[in-house]
Amino acid sequence: MASVSDCILCRGPAGDAELGRVQVWEDSLWRLTTATEGEIAGFSFLEPKRHVPHITDLTGPEADTLGPVLARVTRALKEAADAELVYVYVFGDGIPHLHLHLAPHRVGDALNDRMIRGEVMETRLPSGATSFVSREFPPLPARMHARVRGRLSRALRGSRGAVRKATSSSKADRRTRRNA
Ligand SMILES: [Zn+2]
Repeated sequence: MASVSDCILCRGPAGDAELGRVQVWEDSLWRLTTATEGEIAGFSFLEPKRHVPHITDLTGPEADTLGPVLARVTRALKEAADAELVYVYVFGDGIPHLHLHLAPHRVGDALNDRMIRGEVMETRLPSGATSFVSREFPPLPARMHARVRGRLSRALRGSRGAVRKATSSSKADRRTRRNA
């Protein structure tokens, strides 16, 4: 696993050329870079300056400011790219330094709106929303949905502070599980 010292995103602007992007905005905690090549003009990346590996590790001032920063940069990007929407993706299985992909989207461009792999069947619901079902990954039994939903609801029932204080002990727990 990459350490902080060899994390390209921790290099800041010094690593941008290798990634085909340039910095267009920063504050004391965050920076925004925009691609210089690729299929989508204006494809951008928002990342904390501090080495926060994943969105689930977000704490402190970065956790407190993400909402306002995200609202500000996506609004500016939508206008700058003359886009209809700005798609936001967070993966985390590439470079383990949190970065949000901000993709200005217009109908017919190179982006797709699918989250599920495989051949997808679309069903139009009475509300006008569309349901996507993959032939390769059929819907799971209801009890499996209920189990995770119940655990999530119970986990969030504590105070907001308890959720935000994801400290070194929870990191150690995750490491243990990963190594198990
Ligand atoms: Zn980093």
